[in-house]
Amino acid sequence: MADSDQNLRICPKGHRYYKSTDCPTCPVCEAAKKPQAGFLSLISAPARRALENNGIHTLKDLAVKTEKEVLSYHGMGPNAMSKLKTAMEEAGMAFASES
Ligand SMILES: [Zn+2]
Repeated sequence: MADSDQNLRICPKGHRYYKSTDCPTCPVCEAAKKPQAGFLSLISAPARRALENNGIHTLKDLAVKTEKEVLSYHGMGPNAMSKLKTAMEEAGMAFASES
């Protein structure tokens, strides 16, 4: 038997998956959480979590924040910011202005 350093794990929802690290993230749950459409699907998982952790789930939530504020979130980077900006522009929205 080809024993590897991968361990069978079962997430709280009963998905079975193999992980070699201590990362407890279940890929099935991760995929289910990933929005199929919308701006959140455009950005990387860390950036998405950064937004979600700050209560941002829609472009409207984003529109009350300043660009600087959003960029300061842990996990957010210039690449994600530019995608967010594009998504905002396409929706005819913009970040709040610094004042
Ligand atoms: Zn799962």
